[in-house]
Amino acid sequence: MTNPDVIIIGSGIGGATLASALAPTGRRILILERGEYLRPSSQDRDPKAIFGDGIFRPDEAWLDGEGQSFNPGNYYYVGGNSKFYGAALIRYRAEDFKPRQHMGGQAPGWPISYCDLEQDYTAAEQLYVVHGTVDEDPTEPPHSGAYPNLPVTDEPDIMDLRARLRRVGLSPASVPLGVDIERWLSAGQTTWDAFPNTCGGKMDAETCALAEALKHENVKLLISAPATKLLSDNEGHITGVEVDGHGTISAPLIVLSAGAVQSAALLLKSANDNRPTGLANGSDQVGRNFMNHNCSAVLALHPLRRNRSVYQKTLMFNDYYNDVGQGGAPLGNIQMLGKITGPILAAQTGLPGPIAAMIANRSFDFYAMSEDLPNADSRVTIDGDQIRLDWKRSNWEAHEALVAKLKQHLRRAGFPIVLSRPFDRRTPSHQCGTARMGNDPANSVVDPFCRSHDHRNLFIVDASVLPTSAAVNPALTIAALALRTGRHIIETEFAA
Ligand SMILES: Cc1cc2nc3c(=O)[nH]c(=O)nc-3n(C[C@H](O)[C@H](O)[C@H](O)COP(=O)(O)OP(=O)(O)OC[C@H]3O[C@@H](n4cnc5c(N)ncnc54)[C@H](O)[C@@H]3O)c2cc1C
Repeated sequence: MTNPDVIIIGSGIGGATLASALAPTGRRILILERGEYLRPSSQDRDPKAIFGDGIFRPDEAWLDGEGQSFNPGNYYYVGGNSKFYGAALIRYRAEDFKPRQHMGGQAPGWPISYCDLEQDYTAAEQLYVVHGTVDEDPTEPPHSGAYPNLPVTDEPDIMDLRARLRRVGLSPASVPLGVDIERWLSAGQTTWDAFPNTCGGKMDAETCALAEALKHENVKLLISAPATKLLSDNEGHITGVEVDGHGTISAPLIVLSAGAVQSAALLLKSANDNRPTGLANGSDQVGRNFMNHNCSAVLALHPLRRNRSVYQKTLMFNDYYNDVGQGGAPLGNIQMLGKITGPILAAQTGLPGPIAAMIANRSFDFYAMSEDLPNADSRVTIDGDQIRLDWKRSNWEAHEALVAKLKQHLRRAGFPIVLSRPFDRRTPSHQCGTARMGNDPANSVVDPFCRSHDHRNLFIVDASVLPTSAAVNPALTIAALALRTGRHIIETEFAA
């Protein structure tokens, strides 16, 4: 496409959702995507290939805070990380937008309220065809519209688990899910969490938002097109994007949505004589405040009870989300993991196959998730050409308390054996915060409509703008913010 009106860098949840919002305007929109399409392969449902050999992971090494090299679980395909996500599409709770005290420190709150984002949450749920209900979770914030579909049905053993959790005083609720369950299962009898979506059964950035955007002739996707640098002039106007293999491409409006780590890296790499610390970085906040949830897998077993579930991921509870019941600090969310099978457990732990199968056939697998707090020293930087991710985990005490509470309840619910293991620090699944939103240009990167404080023609619409991580999965909030930004762009940039 020559002379686009808008360039969007990245086709993940943020970029694709924004493209779907702008597409009906008829403006010429060029989406640059570093990766290629994820095509069906014989390994799509092969746990050893996915969890053991990591065949879908990138051929890329980052450095950690100690300078050790690691291969990150960060995916570069059309649709980005959502091609592998668990499709739990949950709203931040209203309380998450306000400042609040955690065990490990203070969460700063957002420059916008839950109400400011509510209509966009509703629209995002429509776009991603979410299955859910507002009637079960006491922490569910107000919805102006119903979910487009009823919740995905619990499998029989999860139905039994739901009743057990209720009996010990918890409030189990259905996870809002972007999954067409028949379609997913007809392509293979596995869960979808962390499995690649090549059958269209998962409602991800490619299958929903990008497909919607590409119905419009004025939208084009260029694949295998990594942006390597943003260019700016003396006045701070972004004048173009250098794209590997395609030279410099220019447009009046540039949108960055390469993911929280890659967007920060690109802004830092784009330093020039006028902006020696990188673009959009007058506040020195680009790359800082990196957050990723504190998560553990918690496996509950009874030696004589089997879990025959295939997907499992339909249940959550938020009894400790806002406090521990009688006041106290927030601890986090509990939801089911996609069902862990023997081969997955063997690939991830190195346990012999028969032992892994014996455990997995009985285990009910939970995902405990607690908020990570912003910290200026938790950051993405560039070391030569390489990304350094120095994640300083925070609020771990709240996570330990959450896991302890969960274990107590699971024992009372009839599971004498409860095992837990923190998630690998090198999997930045819920990365966010590295170009945070705020009113004050001195300590934030974008304004409340995701426009760069420093460059009027630059917007950022991926997870990097989230000022806090809350303790729920981020994708729906990223999508809602992108829709809100889309409306703002149409009103302020396309009005004439
Ligand atoms: C295994 C797994 C399970 C998850 N489960 C859930 C879940 O159940 N619910 C939930 O809400 N969230 C979940 N997440 C997180 C969720 O997937 C992400 O929060 C979300 O997809 C992030 O969207 P994004 O637009 O910020 O970035 P990304 O998804 O990272 O998209 C960025 C895009 O930009 C492209 N790109 C990168 N650099 C460049 C460049 N230089 N030039 C051009 N293109 C570039 C990438 O290839 C990618 O397509 C999960 C993540 C993983 C990995």
